Formats: sequence, structure tokens, C-alpha cells
Amino acid sequence: MSVKKDDLMQKIVSFCKRRGFVFPSSEIYGGFANAYSYGPYGTELKNNIKKLWWKKFVQDREDIVGLDGPIMLNPKLWQASGHTSGFNDAMVDCKDCKKRFRADHLVEESTGQDLEGDLGAMSKTLVTEKVKCPNCGKSNWTEARNFNMMFKTEMNGIDEPVYLRPETAGAIFVDFKNVLDSMRVKIPFGIAQIGKAFRNEIIAGNFIFRLREFEQMEIEYFIDPEMKWEPLFDKWLDVQEEFVLALGANKDDIKRYEHPKEKLSHYSKKTVDIQYNFPFGFSELYGLAHRGDFDLSQHAKASGEDLAYLDQSDNNRKYIPHVLEPTFGVDRSVLVALTAAYTEEVVGDESRTVLKFPKSIAPIKVAIFPLLKNKENLVSKAKEVFDSLKDSFMCEFDDNGNIGKRYRRQDEIGTPYCVTIDFDTLEDNTVTIRDRDSMIQDRISLDSLKDYLVKNLI
Ligand code: ATP
Repeated sequence: MSVKKDDLMQKIVSFCKRRGFVFPSSEIYGGFANAYSYGPYGTELKNNIKKLWWKKFVQDREDIVGLDGPIMLNPKLWQASGHTSGFNDAMVDCKDCKKRFRADHLVEESTGQDLEGDLGAMSKTLVTEKVKCPNCGKSNWTEARNFNMMFKTEMNGIDEPVYLRPETAGAIFVDFKNVLDSMRVKIPFGIAQIGKAFRNEIIAGNFIFRLREFEQMEIEYFIDPEMKWEPLFDKWLDVQEEFVLALGANKDDIKRYEHPKEKLSHYSKKTVDIQYNFPFGFSELYGLAHRGDFDLSQHAKASGEDLAYLDQSDNNRKYIPHVLEPTFGVDRSVLVALTAAYTEEVVGDESRTVLKFPKSIAPIKVAIFPLLKNKENLVSKAKEVFDSLKDSFMCEFDDNGNIGKRYRRQDEIGTPYCVTIDFDTLEDNTVTIRDRDSMIQDRISLDSLKDYLVKNLI
């Protein structure tokens, strides 16, 4: 039974709260501006997505190394990168109801025009097109003006404001030289990082799609400025799409959107968004940008450090590398995994909700049940099985309610396998293993259980 798209978001939001995936944060204090906590299963899911990414892009590749930089960095970095002056969104207020909106989004939604960056044209269009306030329906706007999206804070001993990083990339550029000097990396190579980023979005929303505090997985991939970069750019797009597929997405739900040349920053040769068909329509999931030598050159100029690369394989040719920047949002990846997995099915005369996660990202891999809660010998045997598996897989022990209910609970959180210990187990050392998707139950020997799971889960 496919879930109607309009209903899907609402279902996912309430499902996530009910089943321990994502909770609205600070609820006991009346909530807090689009802040969410990942609950026990959501945390496992998110960690599995990050682990999968780290394996694919760092552990499995000889040309990419990892980094874990700080959230608060020297404020000079953000001046050099242009963030203090240019990391702005256009905001506009309704003079009647005082609600604030993204001016470019209002214009685009009501006229289809993309006026991003042109405050004058946005202000004018809001008036000439009589764009209505989505909150109160009037059309009485302030001028559109820029709003810097970086969060500021204070730090002991520092006189100027310190920023919470609005992207993880900055920390990579400031450590480019340290990585060059300490590792045997040769161009082309990448530096990857996973971590929190903070943006004071004018309007956050769509659940975990647009947050003010979120996580990114980013790579700066340094290349020779003389190389023919186009095939590598396309390869990166393919690899990014492969990652979306690994989250369980359908190919038809993935699209590429190339930014028009006239909208690109002056240093970018090409920027493409990977869009996903979220319940509210196609929107940016990941991005890939060719940023030229902008970042390293700016940081070299502002810091006075030589950030050039000496190419020993080419007569010690010295150059500032160009960079391709594939960027992935963690929270948007979680939303893709949930959207793609959420299924409602009719089984006999009952219906079941099942999250058909790819096994690699499922929060719980194996659930272990004693058939009856009050039979000590079944419970202790089931605990033994749990102990024998817990070092290899994320397991859950459940002895609550009848077996049918326990299966449904595990289906709902997307657990690929359930193992039941019953009276026969005590006689012949066999268990029932039940598959989430086919719901087929097999009887296998306890001695072969771990091999079976290794074969099917890893
Ligand atoms: P958008 O156009 O949706 O605001 P962006 O183009 O500003 O996104 P980037 O600066 O390219 O986004 O950031 C890289 C990635 O970080 C995005 O592709 C997205 O996955 C994620 N991301 C950006 N902003 C947010 C946010 N406010 N909440 C959650 N994830 C975000």
C-alpha cells in the first residue's frame, strides 16, 4: 500500500516521535525553534549513515584522509572566506503580522522568478506582484535586506566575536598545510570531515530538512589546476548518487540541477545540486562545486602562509591546487532514508508499518526473543544468544507481549532479522529466524546463526 505523498511527511514526523527516532527538543519548555533530538533508534540510524559514508569515502579510498576540526575557529578565517560579508540570505518582514520570510523564496513561489542576490528587484517584485503574506494574507512588506546567517558568540580572551562554523569546509582549508606536511598525500587527494554546522536560517522547517544546527559530511578534493576536471566532476556526481541509492532511495527520486552560469560565484566553474524527491517535492540533498583556487588563495593571502603545492612528479612545479567540493547533509540523508523506507502493507487481514531500510543502516540488526517471558530457561537461553551476538551486531532483547506483536514492533523500526528461542531450542539447539521483508521464518541451528547473520548483514 503506497502512502500518499501529502500524508507521508506528517506520518513520518509522528512516527519518528512515537517510535524513538526523532523528538522535537525542549518540549517540556514549550519547544524550541526547530530543534530536534535524535532518539535511541534515530541516533543509531544517523550513526550508521555517517559510518557508511566514512567507510566509502575515507577507509575504502587511498586518496582521501579524514579530519575532525573545531566548531569555533579563528574569526579571520570567515573574513578571508567571505562569510562575514557575504553569507547572507534576503529577509523581508510583513508589516501587518510582523512575520519574517525569505524574500527570494516568496518571490520564487509566487512568480517563478529566481531573483536571488538582487535585493532591489525582490523588494520591487513583492510590491508590483502584490505577493501575499503566507501568514496573514496581506501585502504590506518592508524592503528586502540581507541577513548574515552566521551565529556569533564570545570567547574568553578574544575581543572580537567568534562564529559557530556555518559549514565544516573552513576547518579543512586551514589544516591543508598540516595534512600536506604530515601525511604522504599527493595531488589529487581529498580531506574529509563530518561535523556540526550552524546557520541562523530565516525560516527553518520541513522537519529535519532545514535546521539551524545540523551536520554535514564534506570533502575538499584538491586537484591540479591544469587537469581536465570535467570527467572527475561527473564521476563525483555519480559517486554522490550512489550514496543516495545506498540509503535506500529509488533512482527516479534523484535529480541533478546545474546552477546557471550567471548565478555562479565568480570563482566557481560549475555547481550542481543533487536533489531528492522529498515528501514536499524535489529539493537539494547534496551539492558539488568546483571552487577553483579561491579558498586556498584567500587563506594564503590573509594569513601570509604559503599554501602552494610542490608537484615532485612534475619537475617541482608549484601551484595552488583547485578544489572540487562534494558536500552531503547528514540530517537530509536521514530524512531520505526514512522517506524511502517507510511502507504500509496489508498482511492477511492486518496491516503493518515497516521501515525497509537497507540492512547496513538499520538501527537494530537482530532482535532476540524468548518465546515466553515467564519461562526462566527460555529467557536465560535467549540472553545467552544475545550475549553471543552483541559484539558483532546491534541487537535488541524483547520479551514483552506475544511474538506477533514483537515482530510488528521490529518491522516498524526496520530490524532485518528476529530470532526466537522456544522449547525446541532447548531440545535440538535450533532457533527460528524471521526475515523482515519476506516475513519467511526459517529454522536454523544455533551453531550456524552467527555465520548466517554475518553472511546476510555484512
Ligand atoms: P539550501 O539551498 O537548501 O539552503 P545550501 O545550498 O545553502 O542549501 P550548502 O551550503 O551547499 O547548502 O550546504 C551543503 C549541504 O548541507 C546541503 O546540501 C544540505 O544537505 C546541508 N544543509 C545546508 N543547510 C542546511 C540546513 N539549514 N539544515 C540541514 N541541512 C542543511
